[in-house]
Amino acid sequence: MKRLVSVSLSFVFVMMVCGLVFAECDGFIASKASNKYHMADCSIAKDIQADDEVCFKTQEEALKAGYAPCDICKPEEKIRVVGSKDSDTYHLLTCDLVKKIKPENLVEYSSPLEAVKLDRLPCEICKPPKPKINYIKYGRED
Ligand SMILES: [Zn+2]
Ligand SMILES: [Zn+2]
Repeated sequence: MKRLVSVSLSFVFVMMVCGLVFAECDGFIASKASNKYHMADCSIAKDIQADDEVCFKTQEEALKAGYAPCDICKPEEKIRVVGSKDSDTYHLLTCDLVKKIKPENLVEYSSPLEAVKLDRLPCEICKPPKPKINYIKYGRED
């Protein structure tokens, strides 16, 4: 019995090592040395040392872990966000508040930029990316 346990333990260990060595990141890549995350094909992401590399399947995971979108590859332009017809905030799809939005009131935006252009504000709870583009407001009377 003891032998069986140790065999299966070493099997798990081998699987873990293989996973670490061969796992290609097909989502979003961040470096432990910075606070930015990147598209897998970003030139900066390619320079991240394998030891420092952190892989996220989704941007929601990267944001939750405290990373901000890269200014060069701009992954936040590819994230979908949602809002409600009744409110002026936009959310990540994973936000708890999204679950409370009635399906008939749900509005989907192709990117945070899209949402901001429509005068939506980022949710304080899920903290979706906020485009740093001030010219959106330029020339408009408030
Ligand atoms: Zn990047
Ligand atoms: Zn939210």
